Amino acid sequence: MSFEIKEKDLLGRIGKLKTKSSTVETPLLFPVINPSIQPIPPQKLKDSFGFQAVITNAYILRKRYENKPVEMGLHKFLDFNGSVMTDSGAYQILVYGGVEVSQKEIVAYQEGIGSDIATILDIPTGWKVTKEQAEVTVAETLRRAKAFFKEKTRDDILWVGPVQGGKHLDLVASSAVEMGKLPFQIHALGSPTEVMESYRYDVLADMILTAKKGLPVERPLHLFGAGHPSMFALAVALGCDLFDSAAYALYARENRYMTENGTWRVNELDYFPCSCPRCSIETPRGLEKKSPKEREVFLAERNLYVCLAEIKRIKQAIRDGRLWEHTEMRVHAHPALLSALKHLRNHADFLEKFSPTAKSSGFFYFDSVGLARPEITHYRKRLTERYAPPANAKVLLLVPQTRNKPFHKAPEFKKIRQLFRSLGKDLSAQVHVCVYSAPFGLVPLELDEVYPLSQHEASHPFDLETVSYVASQTAEYIKRSSYKSVVLLNEPKRWMDKVKEACTKSCEEADLPFNSVDANIAGSREIFYRLENILLEHLNKKL
Ligand SMILES: [Zn+2]
Repeated sequence: MSFEIKEKDLLGRIGKLKTKSSTVETPLLFPVINPSIQPIPPQKLKDSFGFQAVITNAYILRKRYENKPVEMGLHKFLDFNGSVMTDSGAYQILVYGGVEVSQKEIVAYQEGIGSDIATILDIPTGWKVTKEQAEVTVAETLRRAKAFFKEKTRDDILWVGPVQGGKHLDLVASSAVEMGKLPFQIHALGSPTEVMESYRYDVLADMILTAKKGLPVERPLHLFGAGHPSMFALAVALGCDLFDSAAYALYARENRYMTENGTWRVNELDYFPCSCPRCSIETPRGLEKKSPKEREVFLAERNLYVCLAEIKRIKQAIRDGRLWEHTEMRVHAHPALLSALKHLRNHADFLEKFSPTAKSSGFFYFDSVGLARPEITHYRKRLTERYAPPANAKVLLLVPQTRNKPFHKAPEFKKIRQLFRSLGKDLSAQVHVCVYSAPFGLVPLELDEVYPLSQHEASHPFDLETVSYVASQTAEYIKRSSYKSVVLLNEPKRWMDKVKEACTKSCEEADLPFNSVDANIAGSREIFYRLENILLEHLNKKL
C-alpha cells in the first residue's frame, strides 16, 4: 500500500504517502510550478519552506518544452528533489474546450518524464452543464480510465483517477463507485474550481462527500484547485488529503495578500496581519515602493507561509481530536463556507460512521452548527438503538441540566436526592431521572459520566435550533419508551418552553399522564414539595 493512515478526526486524516521519490505526509499541499513564470525556484520551496512535493502541468510542459523534460527527467528539469505530481491537461479542456493531445500520448509523456504522481486525461464536467452533457463527461472519463490500464507501461507511478459529475450528485456517486473499482492509488474530485469561484461551498461539500461515499476509503483524495487557506480545514474535514495551490502565485501577481480568513489587496492594508519571516520585517507601504518583481516574490513567498502554517494547524487539530472546532472557527471567514458546514447536518450519519467518537479530550459546543458533530450523532444512535431504561421505572422525571457536570454530582441535585429519600426506597425506584441537556438532548442520569456527556463545554444561552433539538430528542425518547407517566421540571426561560411543548404533544399522542412544574432546578424547597406531591400522585395511580 502506498498510503498509510496514521491519525483520524472527522473524515480528515494524517497519512503517509509513499511515492517513488519520497514519503510525504498528508494532508499535503502541492504548490503549482509553472516553469516559465515561476516566482520561487522549486528547490527553494523544499529547502526554505519545507514543501515535500510540487505539482506541474504535463500538458503545458509537453507543449512548451517538448522532449527536454523527458531527456532531463522531470526532477532535474524542475530542479526539485522531492515528489512531483503532474496534471494532464484536463483543466485546459475545461477552459479552452479541448487539448491537442490524446490520453495515450499524455500518459506516455508522464511516464517518460518520470512523474511520481500522474493523472489520466479525464474530461471535466464543469459547472453550468446539463445532466446530459454531464453524463457524457462521466462516461468518457470512465472509458479513458479503463483504457488507461492497458496504456500504462510503468508500475512505480501513483496514478490519479478523477471523479466527474459536477453538481449532478447521482452522477458523482456512480462515477466514484466505478472509478473506485479500478486499481488507481489516488482519486481526485474533478473540476471543482468553478463551484468554488461561485462560492457554492455547500454544493462542493455535497460533491466531496458524495465522492467519498463511493470511493475506497483507504485511498487518498485530491481536491484540484483548492488553494486558499480559508477552506483547507473544511476540505480536510470532509476527507480531502491532497491539495494544489496556484493561487499563491496568481494572487501575488495581482498584489493580493492571502490570510486564513480571506484575501486583501496590499493597498487596502495598513498592517500585515502575519508573523512569517517576510511580513515581520516589511510594511504594506514599504512593499508598494518595491519593484513589481520584488513585490510578486514577496507576496508569493508569504502566501505560501500562510498556507503551510494552516496545514500544520490542521494536522495538529487532527492529532488533538479538535478538527471540528478548528473548522468551525475557519468557516467563519466567509458566510458561504459556514453554509457548507451547516449543510453537514444532511451527512451526519456518514460523518459519524468514519469519525473517531471516543477521544482523550472534551469538546466545545458553540451553537447549532455543532449538531452535525459525530459525537452527537453517535450518542443519538446509541441511545435509540441500545438503551433501555431500568425495568421497574414507571414515572419518567425530566429535569433540566445543571451548569456543572456530571449532573448527578452538581449541588442542585441535592434537592432531588432529598426528594427521593422522602419518597422512600420502593417508590423512588419507580422514578427514572433523565436530564434534558444541550447538545446531547436527553441523558439518563445513570449515564451522565459516559464520554462525552460530561466532557464538553457548551455556550449559554442556547440558540433556538439547539433548544428545538433537545426538545425533539426528549419527545422521541418518550415516544419509544414505555413509561406510565411523565413529570417535567420545566425551566421556561432557558428552554423557551420548547421541551414542555414537545413533551405535552408526545404524552398526548401516547395517552400518558403528564405534569410539569415551572421552576429553575436551583428552585425553592417549595417547588420540590410540589414535585414530590405530583410524583406521589402519579405513583399511587399506578399502585
Ligand atoms: Zn507573512
